[in-house]
Amino acid sequence: MAQMLAKDSDLARQICALSRQRVLPHAVILSGAGDRLSAARFLAAAMVCRDERERPCLACGPCRKVAQEIHPDVHIVQDTERRELSVDSVRELRKDVYIYPNEGEQKVYIFADCQQLNERDQNVLLKIVEEGPPYAAFIFCTESTATLLPTIRSRCVELKLRQEDAQQESEQVAALCKALAGAELLPVASFLVALENQKPKREQVQQLLQDTWRIAAQALAAQCGGAAASASAEHLSRSLNRRQLQRLTELLKKYSMECNYNVGAGHILGAVCAEWEEIL
Ligand SMILES: [Zn+2]
Repeated sequence: MAQMLAKDSDLARQICALSRQRVLPHAVILSGAGDRLSAARFLAAAMVCRDERERPCLACGPCRKVAQEIHPDVHIVQDTERRELSVDSVRELRKDVYIYPNEGEQKVYIFADCQQLNERDQNVLLKIVEEGPPYAAFIFCTESTATLLPTIRSRCVELKLRQEDAQQESEQVAALCKALAGAELLPVASFLVALENQKPKREQVQQLLQDTWRIAAQALAAQCGGAAASASAEHLSRSLNRRQLQRLTELLKKYSMECNYNVGAGHILGAVCAEWEEIL
């Protein structure tokens, strides 16, 4: 049996909460120090698990196959002999991704060590992450996201192995979380208008939404019985109800992904505000 992330870790709770709410992203960067591969297996199991209540259950057939590394739809991509992946293995993958999953509804590719992905590989993968079939999911394991091209990073949601590392939230993220925890329209609207007046770049808005997404997801995990990973997450988990938090998580994810398209930052901020009003 291969190692699996401990079920009582913060990251495991976060993954369980996301999968319970059916909001697991299809492209994830697992970063930070520690056993990233065991975390990737856990996440992959959550994606292919058949249990109705708890995913991953670690007991059903698909979960057990992931743990034994024999699941036909979960591929660990790595080259243990060479420093970089061969051109052929990336080409192979590009073909393989369009073949329907054997058993489940998802097909998962785990990149065990992103340092093995050179720029050319990453550009090929970028296209697949962006335009690949809806059943394909990608997990990039890396100690630091600096090994990945910004274009790849912007299409993935980053989950950190150690929540202590995730504490460095910016003042802006903390301010947005505080406004959201007010569970009213006005504080959030004023925050977004003030931000828009600063004419932020789309990448900055994306970073803000993505960081806030992660905190909202942690808050959701905390409501599902986990320990809150940060003060902001705890505040949100106490101030918003389950439905609001779930919809907020979906909204932040949706608009951080929309930042990949050529839309103005102002347009995105306006849309976030309008949807927030609907959630209340
Ligand atoms: Zn299972």
